[in-house]
Amino acid sequence: MKKKDLRKVNEIDEEEDFDLDADTEEGSILARTPLPGDEEILLPSLRPRKFNEFIGQSAIVEKLRVFISAARERQEPLDHTLLLGPPGLGKTTLANVIAAEMGVQIRITSGPVLNRAGDVAALLTGLRQGDVLFIDEIHRLSKNVEEVLYPAMEDYHFDVLIGKGPTARSLRMKVQPFTLIGATTREGDVSAPLRTRFGVVSRIDYYTVDELKILIESVSQKLQYPVTPDAAGEIARRARGTPRVAIRMFKRMRDVAQVGRQEAVDMATVENGMRMLQVDSMGLDYIDRKILEILLKRFDGGPVSLDTLAVSVGEEADTIYDVYESFLIQIGFIARTSRGRIATRAAYEYFGMKPPEQQSNQNQLRLFDN
Ligand code: ADP
Repeated sequence: MKKKDLRKVNEIDEEEDFDLDADTEEGSILARTPLPGDEEILLPSLRPRKFNEFIGQSAIVEKLRVFISAARERQEPLDHTLLLGPPGLGKTTLANVIAAEMGVQIRITSGPVLNRAGDVAALLTGLRQGDVLFIDEIHRLSKNVEEVLYPAMEDYHFDVLIGKGPTARSLRMKVQPFTLIGATTREGDVSAPLRTRFGVVSRIDYYTVDELKILIESVSQKLQYPVTPDAAGEIARRARGTPRVAIRMFKRMRDVAQVGRQEAVDMATVENGMRMLQVDSMGLDYIDRKILEILLKRFDGGPVSLDTLAVSVGEEADTIYDVYESFLIQIGFIARTSRGRIATRAAYEYFGMKPPEQQSNQNQLRLFDN
């Protein structure tokens, strides 16, 4: 469907400000960062507040419940916690849930925003006993900021330099005992000294179809727009294991149902809506297919570097890495090797192409290079 037709569907729904255009990262259902329409204005928030509303990730939740109750009993803050995983899997949500379960306030910021040591110093001195400081994209902190954080995390103090030249002196500032929760999509980019200061490190995995189905049914209830069980399952199957994508997809299917004057989102709605979004039965969208096609046809299946792939696709390398590639790896279409990205046999088969002879052997050799 053309862009203009897609817009028509959107114009009718005044509550949403989505652009149904699937071929740009901003505004796409796969956008890495929250979009304005993600949060409800009139209805209750879709974000779980406590563990009992948080779907899936049972191993992490179980572990955190124990740590939280132990910390509460000792009247101490929870250990500093690092949350790893692709965008939209619930790292921010989990940080909020942890703060709520600890009964403390949360201050939210992100690596790129905290430019100067003074920024983090101001945040730290404003924390109250036990508060949570959440830093998203913690791998993007500058060295100066990290250096203020190290003693603050370890001993709840940091030093500031006052004045310049020979009269400069160092002033020690105290910080209330607090919990730093860091989130990152790039585990490998978190500096070693920072990483070692986290007592708890949890990796959030992609969700199962069953978990996403439960999420979609609960969102449907909260938004008071019914969904049939098979339609909820179908959205869940195409949502790339990601709650943020599942919620956005459901909202867009609701748009389609509403415009068609249907009382519920059903299978026909989903098939129609997904066609508009150019999302196929595996959850691959236009850009996924573009990445795969370029890799297979222009680069003969690779290996090709992330940057070259990004330039060829016309997307930012970060977006390709976090959103697209991590999912394509998860479903076994791409492999990351020391020499670059390569397409797997499954990717050739997806396009009805014949994998080159010995392709699987070569890939295995390349994988072992790693
Ligand atoms: P991240 O910080 O990892 O990018 P978010 O915490 O912002 O992801 O999650 C994206 C959205 O998905 C949130 O608005 C939240 O409503 C929903 N969500 C994420 N994880 C869960 C979960 N386990 N249960 C229910 N909803 C979730």
